[in-house]
Amino acid sequence: MANSYDLIIVGAGALGTFHAYFALKNGLKVLLLEKDDQPREATVRNFGQIIPSGMAEDEWFDYARVSLDTYKTIQADYDISIRSSGSLYLASSAMEMQVLEEKHGRYQALGYPSQLLTAAECRQRLPAVRAEYCAGGLLFAQEVTAEPDQMIHRVLAYLVERWQLDYRPATPVREVTAHASGCEVLDTHGQRYQAAQVLVCSGRDFKFLFPDVFAQSDLQLCKLQMLATYPLPQVHLPGSVLTGLSIRRYHAFHSCPSFAQLRPEDIDPALRQWGIHILFKQALDGSIIIGDTHEYADVAAADSLDFNNVNLLNQLMIREAQRILDLPDWRIQRVWNGYYSQSKSREIFQHSPDPRIHIVTGIGGKGMTTACGFAHHNVALLDLCRLQHSA
Ligand SMILES: Cc1cc2nc3c(=O)[nH]c(=O)nc-3n(C[C@H](O)[C@H](O)[C@H](O)COP(=O)(O)OP(=O)(O)OC[C@H]3O[C@@H](n4cnc5c(N)ncnc54)[C@H](O)[C@@H]3O)c2cc1C
Repeated sequence: MANSYDLIIVGAGALGTFHAYFALKNGLKVLLLEKDDQPREATVRNFGQIIPSGMAEDEWFDYARVSLDTYKTIQADYDISIRSSGSLYLASSAMEMQVLEEKHGRYQALGYPSQLLTAAECRQRLPAVRAEYCAGGLLFAQEVTAEPDQMIHRVLAYLVERWQLDYRPATPVREVTAHASGCEVLDTHGQRYQAAQVLVCSGRDFKFLFPDVFAQSDLQLCKLQMLATYPLPQVHLPGSVLTGLSIRRYHAFHSCPSFAQLRPEDIDPALRQWGIHILFKQALDGSIIIGDTHEYADVAAADSLDFNNVNLLNQLMIREAQRILDLPDWRIQRVWNGYYSQSKSREIFQHSPDPRIHIVTGIGGKGMTTACGFAHHNVALLDLCRLQHSA
C-alpha cells in the first residue's frame, strides 16, 4: 500500500539514518522524514571524530567498535568520506602520560590495538606539535574520521541508491499517533503515512513532537563553539588529535588508577568554566578545525542557550590551542555553534509513549562514534517486536 511502511523514522541525523540502514538490511520497508532540505544539525556540525578509544569500557565501547567496522564496510563500497588516519592523544604532563600508559594496558587486555608514542614520535607524526607541550602520546591507528559536512548526505544517497530507502527531506513531522491498526504520522504539508512502528530521532528539537515527554525528562541541551582556520596546506595533521584536556574529560580514562591524581586545579579556571577541551582535525581543504566549548541548559531553559558565538570563548580556545600547536597562521576563517541533547542520568534517552512509538535521542557528544553501533543493537530489538507482532 502506498504510504504504508514497516518503520517510519523522524529525523535524518546520525541516529535516524543509521536506524534506517540496519532496518533496511533486515528487510524492513522504511520511510525517513527530515524537516530540513538536508540534515543540518549536530550530525553535520561536529568534528567527525570516530573514536571508540574515548568511550568507557561498557556497551558503548562495543557500539563504537560496531560503528567503526560499519563505517569501514560502507566506505569500501561507497565513498562516505571516511578516512583511516588514526587518533592520537597527546599527554601534556608525566601524570597524563601515566594515565595513557595505564589505558594502553587495558586496551591490550581487551584486544583493542593501541601504540604508545614517545614525545619525539608524536612530533614525527605531527611536526606542528610544540615540544614543550608534549610528554608523549597514545595512537589508535585503526580509528577513522569523517567529513561531517559530507558524511550523512552520502550515507543517505547510498541508502536511497542501494537499499531503496524512501527518504523525504523538507518534510517536518507535526504529529505521531498510534491506533488499533498501527501508527500514523502527519507532516506539515498535510500528508499522512502509516507504519507498524515509528522511531522519533529528533535530536535537540523538544518543542514540536512529544513536548510533554521532553518537559518531564532529564534531557539537557548542550551548545558548543567551533573554529576553523584558513586552509593550511603546508601543515600535515593526520587523523584526530586529542589533548591533555580530552584525557581528563573522556570517560575512557576515568577508570585508570592514576586518573584521580590529575588535579582539576592544574587547569586554567576559565577553561574549566566553559567546558573547553582542545581537539584538532584537519579538514579536506587543509583548514584546521579547533574546538570546543560546552554550555548546558535544561529543556525548560533551552532557549537561554542563544545563537551568539562568543568571541571571549573563541579567544580562550585559541590561546590553549597555541600552547599545543605551532601553526603558521592562526587567522580564523569560520566559527559556528553546534547543539546536541543529552540525558543527565543515562547515555541515551529512550521513551516509548506507545509500545509502537519509540523516542530515541540525547546521545550527547558521542553520536558520530556510537549512533551507528547503537542503532545496530536497537534495530535488532525492533525487528524482534515486529516478528512477535505479526506472529
Ligand atoms: C560541535 C559538535 C562536535 C561534535 N563532535 C563529535 C565527534 O567528533 N565525534 C562524535 O562521536 N560525536 C560528536 N558530536 C556529537 C554528534 O554530532 C551527535 O551526538 C549526533 O550528531 C546526534 O545525532 P542525532 O541524530 O541524535 O541528532 P541530529 O544530528 O540533531 O539530528 C536530528 C534530526 O532530526 C530532524 N528533526 C527534528 N525534528 C523533526 C521533525 N519534527 N520532523 C522531521 N525531522 C525532524 C532535525 O532536522 C535533524 O536533522 C559532536 C556534536 C557537536 C554539536
